[in-house]
Amino acid sequence: MTIKNKVISLLENAFGKTGKVLEVRAWNPATFFEVDVHFPDMKMEKWDKVQHIKVRVAEGIYRDYTPACWDVETSTCTLFIDAQHEGPGSKWASSLKKGDTIVYVGVGPTFHQPTTNSAMISLGDMSSIGHYLALQQLAKEQPLVGAITIAEEHHRREFNEYLDWNIGAIAQQDFGGYSALANWIETNDLTTATVYITGHIPTCVQLRKRIKQLNTQPKSIKVQGFWQ
Ligand SMILES: Cc1cc2nc3c(=O)[nH]c(=O)nc-3n(C[C@H](O)[C@H](O)[C@H](O)COP(=O)(O)OP(=O)(O)OC[C@H]3O[C@@H](n4cnc5c(N)ncnc54)[C@H](O)[C@@H]3O)c2cc1C
Repeated sequence: MTIKNKVISLLENAFGKTGKVLEVRAWNPATFFEVDVHFPDMKMEKWDKVQHIKVRVAEGIYRDYTPACWDVETSTCTLFIDAQHEGPGSKWASSLKKGDTIVYVGVGPTFHQPTTNSAMISLGDMSSIGHYLALQQLAKEQPLVGAITIAEEHHRREFNEYLDWNIGAIAQQDFGGYSALANWIETNDLTTATVYITGHIPTCVQLRKRIKQLNTQPKSIKVQGFWQ
């Protein structure tokens, strides 16, 4: 074991907590997963911002995922994991099955929380689905609107079938989904709304820049980059 991995394993022993996989549902094609997990040590009742957890996906390798659809009484939640690309996180998510143990080394808030005095527009790619489900749960009756870019046509159909909300699935045309999202912001009214942007970091940056060039401006833009 390398010194780095020894340190990580010591940290894991000190801070690592576990969850138990209750169920895994794969979308078709099986590159997107809904993972129901019981996390007995998570204090979900205090959450007022969207959270993220750092999960061990391989020895010494950690990735961030968003707990969504949580239930305080049972300490359960669902992780929505995009595994279309090659990576240790994708490999781990694709291998998960009922009864597996998940090790995580922390839960923390993101910058995103609901806004009560403006419309909320949510933009991102498939890695953002859990994040916006969590934001919608915090926003309660106030509906989020917006768009998620999805490359697979069948995934877009499943998105519309499984998720009962006002965020739409739009066809992803490039790596981070920029062109579809740019088209969406140019054809929808953002005036006085709070715009949330998540997902591919260069796309988030470019999209924020594009919004700044529009004639009418939202109240604020809140960016939370996920990956690059
Ligand atoms: C606060 C936060 C919350 C997050 N929540 C979620 C979540 O709920 N669900 C979720 O799926 N992801 C989420 N992510 C993103 C996730 O942590 C990253 O996508 C992570 O890099 C995936 O790890 P990997 O090992 O699969 O790929 P990596 O080893 O990190 O990357 C391998 C290659 O794949 C590319 N890549 C990485 N992620 C993606 C992607 N999503 N789509 C296309 N290409 C990609 C990279 O550019 C790289 O070339 C979150 C990230 C953050 C910071």
